[in-house]
Amino acid sequence: MTLIYQINRSKRRRNLAIKVAKGKLEIQAPWHMPEATIRAFVNDKHAWIDKHLQRQRRQLDALAPRLWESGERLRWLGEPMTLKVATATRKSVERYGAELFVTKTARSQAVKEPRLTIISWYKRQAEAWLDDFFATWPEHHGLTPSTWSIGDFTSKWGHCTRKQALKFTWKLWIAPPWVVRNVVIHELCHLKEFNHSKAFWRLVEQLSPDYQAAEAWLRQHGVTVLNADYLDYCDENSD
Ligand SMILES: [Zn+2]
Repeated sequence: MTLIYQINRSKRRRNLAIKVAKGKLEIQAPWHMPEATIRAFVNDKHAWIDKHLQRQRRQLDALAPRLWESGERLRWLGEPMTLKVATATRKSVERYGAELFVTKTARSQAVKEPRLTIISWYKRQAEAWLDDFFATWPEHHGLTPSTWSIGDFTSKWGHCTRKQALKFTWKLWIAPPWVVRNVVIHELCHLKEFNHSKAFWRLVEQLSPDYQAAEAWLRQHGVTVLNADYLDYCDENSD
């Protein structure tokens, strides 16, 4: 199989890097590196690239594109919910067990309104989850953020600023609870170690012993969970 890829050159980059995203291959290369060197590198990593590309494509193919219509599967903390959309005089959103009921107004642009209503539901629920989390987070760890909030990132799960503020994407709460917890702890550890040094990972391991499984989960499922066209994942491990 011939690999099709895009080369992105950067003046700041020193080494070659492979990026497999949304079922596509991208090579990040230093500005002046000869094309032949890049090709040799890609050939060398062919098996690895192929494995990851195929896995991502399988994941994308296994899910239907999100249309925000009745009958679609959504998830809250990994638990599946069936979406039920109806028209009413005003907007509303309510979860009853395994169903999420959303109403849209007759005047709305059909697709946009349930989507925005549901996203704001996720954001409110995620904020409440974080409030509960921090209410029980032990003070003796010495890791206390100045604020926390929910955002809309598409290529990362969360971040920590120099001002000790934590922010997470609402899409994180599509993942199972143990994965969510790991991401929050990861960002909390940045309050002490503003880097990904050995000391940082030691701290993460201490506070979240299963962090490696969570990191693997995020790497595997990020391709569809963070993707606005899917916002879901397949349960079965396709490896
Ligand atoms: Zn980090």
